[in-house]
Amino acid sequence: MALVVQKYGGTSVANIERIRNVARRVAKTYDDGNDVIVVVSAMSGETNKLVALANEMCEFPSEREYDVLVATGEQVTIALLSMCLQSMGYKAKSYMGHQIPILTDSTFSKARIEKIDDKKVREDLKNGTIIVVAGFQGVDREGNTTTLGRGGSDTSAVAVAAGLKADVCEIYTDVDGVYTTDPRIVPDATKIEKISYDEMLEMASLGAKVLQIRSVEFAKKYGVVVHVRSSFNDNPGTLVMKEDADMETVLVSGITYNKDEAKISVMRVPDKPGIASILFTPLSHANITVDMIIQNVSNEGYTDMTFTVPKTDFKKALKIVEESAKEIAAGAVRSDENIAKVSIVGVGMRSHSGVASKMFQTLSQEGINIQMISTSEIKVSCVIDAKYTELAVRVLHDAFGLSKKDVKAE
Ligand code: ADP
Ligand code: ASP
Ligand code: MG
Repeated sequence: MALVVQKYGGTSVANIERIRNVARRVAKTYDDGNDVIVVVSAMSGETNKLVALANEMCEFPSEREYDVLVATGEQVTIALLSMCLQSMGYKAKSYMGHQIPILTDSTFSKARIEKIDDKKVREDLKNGTIIVVAGFQGVDREGNTTTLGRGGSDTSAVAVAAGLKADVCEIYTDVDGVYTTDPRIVPDATKIEKISYDEMLEMASLGAKVLQIRSVEFAKKYGVVVHVRSSFNDNPGTLVMKEDADMETVLVSGITYNKDEAKISVMRVPDKPGIASILFTPLSHANITVDMIIQNVSNEGYTDMTFTVPKTDFKKALKIVEESAKEIAAGAVRSDENIAKVSIVGVGMRSHSGVASKMFQTLSQEGINIQMISTSEIKVSCVIDAKYTELAVRVLHDAFGLSKKDVKAE
């Protein structure tokens, strides 16, 4: 008998009929002789509505209360799914994060899972109960409700699979796997049969929302093989797993985009030791992740610094940066929310040159200006004007021969 963890995302539980569909899939897995733990998200759109309510209530909602509010979406779906399974004659029991408990740190709205207690769940599994766990939420040591960041149910699922040493971890969503780029933008994108943890980590952190970054970090750390598949068909999906020899031969595996960052520039920063620390330390203390940073060449003792932060933290970041800029007697602070980051990702890049220049050339042929660049061993990212995002993704996907027709022709 295997222990199977299945996670169903928002679109898969968007209404009563879809929850029934999920229940049938779960029941089939159980009938096949498996122990089953299901992790569910809120109905699609619900978390967005809750976030909007919080922002309507006040400009800077209390972080603790924000989590109390946004965690409620998942409470609805665990109860409905459990009711449905029970009405079909199965033993099922819902669990909220704090009831398991899924213990996290206290970083509200982006908490990290520290420990999962398996005692109650194991007992229930032993007596044939299907466990239905609320994704996205946990509890800190003081008993406060916490949430894991947007898309966090993926992380709940992988963490549960790692914590309970599950045999299978399946992430069911509205696409049947990880594609070479977002299939909503490029319908001709190709499904990737298997992808390494490192590439998936880059794809996720660069905007491929199909898996939350932390879920991939967890999977890598604990060696959980994650199978991404569709809840609407039975197609084989994508396996996220340890790198193997076949993967190295692919130069570029995917193209991603991220419109969720904003750019902040501080002009006329006095160019002397300690300045970067004065600018960035308060941001890190506020738990704001700074992504790309560019410092211009110094001119007469002054330089300009530009960096990007998540849009969700933008207002908070701007306030902090304006204060720091005053402290160091810098010039104006400028910001731009209409940016996008497009990236190319592939482990094959490690051993090939010319990938970055091909990217720059492709963008320039379309008249797309590059505002910032960053690279790592297995990715190149460019910040561009947000209005060119779709165009950039399409031309890059084409230039690197990733569409179905190109892959088949090889
Ligand atoms: P869920 O609600 O099931 O968690 P998400 O909306 O979080 O689903 O993630 C699935 C979506 O991710 C897809 O509908 C797709 O538009 C988007 N996506 C972005 N990049 C990719 C990619 N490279 N491969 C597959 N899907 C992607
Ligand atoms: N419901 C949460 C969100 O929308 C978590 C998730 O769907 O994974 O971000
Ligand atoms: Mg998701």
